[in-house]
Amino acid sequence: MSQSNEHKGIFEQIEGYEHEQIVFCNDPETGLRSIIAIHNTVLGPALGGTRMWNYASEAEAVRDVIRLSRGMTYKAAISGINLGGGKAVIIGNPATDKSEALWRRYGRFVDSLSGKYITAEDVGTNTGDMEFISMETDYCTGKPEYLGGGGDPSPVTAYGTYLGMKAAAKVKWGDNSLKGKRVMVQGVGHVGQYLVGHLIEEGAEVLIADINENNIKKTMDRYDVTRVDADKVYDQDMDIYAPCALGATLNDTSIEKLKCGVVAGAANNQMEDEKRHGAMLKEKGIAYAPDFLINAGGLINCYVELQGYDRERAFGYTEKIYQRTLDIFAKASEEDITTHEAAERTALERIDAIAHVNSRF
Ligand code: NAD
Repeated sequence: MSQSNEHKGIFEQIEGYEHEQIVFCNDPETGLRSIIAIHNTVLGPALGGTRMWNYASEAEAVRDVIRLSRGMTYKAAISGINLGGGKAVIIGNPATDKSEALWRRYGRFVDSLSGKYITAEDVGTNTGDMEFISMETDYCTGKPEYLGGGGDPSPVTAYGTYLGMKAAAKVKWGDNSLKGKRVMVQGVGHVGQYLVGHLIEEGAEVLIADINENNIKKTMDRYDVTRVDADKVYDQDMDIYAPCALGATLNDTSIEKLKCGVVAGAANNQMEDEKRHGAMLKEKGIAYAPDFLINAGGLINCYVELQGYDRERAFGYTEKIYQRTLDIFAKASEEDITTHEAAERTALERIDAIAHVNSRF
C-alpha cells in the first residue's frame, strides 16, 4: 500500500465505491477486530465471506474489505441470484488468534445487522469457524454438511469455471470442445484439482503448476498431467491459461509472455489493473472469461444453502454460467469493450433495473 493511501481518511478511501454501510466491530476481551462492509443490498441481503488475515495496517484491512465487498455485488448480480454484495475482514493471524469466544462474539455482531449481511468462509476461515458463528446467528452460510450447510463449495466453483472455459473456447475457436486443448492450470488446490478432473475427462492435455508439493503429488497420483515449474507458467505453449491460485497474475509481464488463446480460471481479481490489462488481452486477441462471472459457483452454493441446501440445485444454477459467458462475449463484441467491462455493465444494469421494479410497489 502506498504511503498516501495509508494516510487517507476512511471516507476518502471509500469515495467512489458507494457503500451502504461499513461497521467496525471491536471486542478487546476476545481480541476481535473486524470490519463488515455492506456494499449494495438492492438485489437482496449482502452475502460475502469473512477473511481473517494478518493485515500490515488497519488501512490495508479497510481497503481490502471495500474492494472485495463491491466485487461481491457484481458477482451476485451477474449470476442472476437475489443477493447483494458484502464482505468482512478480521484483523488477526488465522493460525494463532482463533477461539470459540472470538467466533461467537463475531457471530453476535453479524446478528446485530438483522440479516442485512450474511457471512460465509473465505481466506483464513473454514467450516468449523462457521459452526461457531452459527451458534449466535442464522445469518451464516458455508456451514458443515451435518448442520445443513453446503460443505466444500470448490466442486461447484470448479464446474462453473469449466463451463465458462468451454464458452470462451466456443468464442475463440468456434467449438466448445476442450478435447486435445493444452490447458495450463496454475494452482491445484481445492478448486484447481476439481477443474483438472473435468479437463482430463474431456480429453484435454493438462499442465499443472503449484508451490505446494502435496497438492502437486495429489493431482499427479490421480491424473495423467504434466508438471511445470511455478515460475515457468507464462512461458508455456498453451491454448488455455487457467489461473486458480492468486489474484493479479494478469499483469504487464505475464500478458507480454502469454501465448494462449483463452484465459479462464477460478482465481479472484486476476487482472492487476482491470482497465489496462483487460485492454492488453483484447489487443492480443485473447478471449478472457471474466473471473467474477465464471467463479461464482461458490457464491451460488451459499445462495442455495440459504434456501435449504441441495447440491443438484447448486449445480443447476451454476450451469447457467455457460450461456452467460457467451452473452458477455457477444456484448463485448457489439459494444467494442473488454469482456470485463461488459460483465460489469451487465451487473450494474441488472441492479438498476431491479431497483426500479422494487420502487414501484
Ligand atoms: P487453495 O488455497 O485451496 O488453492 C490455491 C492453490 O494455489 C494452492 O495449492 C497454492 O499452493 C497454490 N499457489 C499459491 N501460490 C502459487 C503460485 N505462485 N504458483 C502456483 N500455485 C500457487 O484455494 P482454492 O479454494 O482452490 O481457490 C483458488 C482461487 O480461486 C483463489 O483465488 C480463490 O479466491 C478463488 N475462488 C475460490 C472459490 C472456492 O470455492 N474455493 C470460489 C471463488 C473463487
